[in-house]
Amino acid sequence: MDTIQKLELLGGDTRFEVQSAAEKACPDYLDLPAKTQGLKDSLSTVIRGDGKRMTVLKTLLSSYCARNCFYCPWRRGRDLPRVQFTPEEMASAFMQMHQKRLVEGLFLSSGIHGRASTTQDRLIATADLLRHKHGYRGYIHLKIMPGVDRASVEASMRLADRVSINLEAPNPARLERLAPEKNLFEQLMPALYWADEINQQRRAEGKRAVSTTTQFVVGAAGESDREIITTVAQLAREARLSRAYFSAFHPVPHTPLDGLLPEDPRREHRLYQSDFLLRQYAFAADELVFDASGNLPRAMDPKLLYALRHPERFPLEINRAPREALLRVPGIGPRSVERILQMRQRGRLQDLRDLKGVGLAAQRATPFLLFNGRRPHMQLSLF
Ligand code: SF4
Repeated sequence: MDTIQKLELLGGDTRFEVQSAAEKACPDYLDLPAKTQGLKDSLSTVIRGDGKRMTVLKTLLSSYCARNCFYCPWRRGRDLPRVQFTPEEMASAFMQMHQKRLVEGLFLSSGIHGRASTTQDRLIATADLLRHKHGYRGYIHLKIMPGVDRASVEASMRLADRVSINLEAPNPARLERLAPEKNLFEQLMPALYWADEINQQRRAEGKRAVSTTTQFVVGAAGESDREIITTVAQLAREARLSRAYFSAFHPVPHTPLDGLLPEDPRREHRLYQSDFLLRQYAFAADELVFDASGNLPRAMDPKLLYALRHPERFPLEINRAPREALLRVPGIGPRSVERILQMRQRGRLQDLRDLKGVGLAAQRATPFLLFNGRRPHMQLSLF
């Protein structure tokens, strides 16, 4: 089997990893040569920190795995053809694709082939070859295997732009129902806290911080949105987690969970919106509105729901409201708030016409604003 065939074999199922607004399947514009059409499933679009999109090769170094996670296509009990790459083979295949401008970055994960630490060593060796043998300076995202030590996390962060440690579930009881061989507090969480310590050290040495992410499988362990959001908020606060990804559960045939129904994708969407409210709008987890079962209502945007549940806080006087209050107005984002604050320094805002070009969603924001004590007249043509 040649390298392309091996990558094709991995492609279809690596997409179980993350499919979100931030990471889409192979971009339509990519015109792959006929010989490599089968690689489409291994390519994803990632939006970088600077907002630019890039196409990444997202694949596994090995689809052999010693673990038996219930949701995973690569679990050891599942009968399917498996492949593995040597670090040299993967580095060279990636460089060929990069030189042909098929991909700009690499997201490399692996099944745990043998011990977690030796698997991590092979991931590190691949990144090391790319950086030091091939002179590759672009984007590398490395997965951190469960249970590896701090030195392995540090070595990965020396080479990668991003590392991810997937918790999969928000607490030990839920993880037990998804992956009983994994231990949240001993094998997974510590790596996120180490990554934060390592980043603090890197910053002190004048080096750039490496972004850290995690992922949750949503809807297979009976967990509530409140449980997930509580854990995400804790990690953002205590370990400066850069981002969380939410992957709506989709049953994989011939796994212990294949009788479960797929999760409603709207749940994933509401979790992403809530995570943005925590990270970019300074919401506290307990400000979010959950239903009686601890879930985010699917029928309404969580920020609009918050505003409707707090009539005592709205409408808000746009000329006096502090930043954190403006951030809670539906239809107004962090950039719009900064623009409004700048404009206020130049004088009082009189009506909606003064907000033209600020970038807010006027139709959503208008019911929650006052201008000098008066409700604005909606003039959609302005926006
Ligand atoms: S350790 Fe990773 S690859 Fe292996 S079964 Fe679990 S989720 Fe799948």
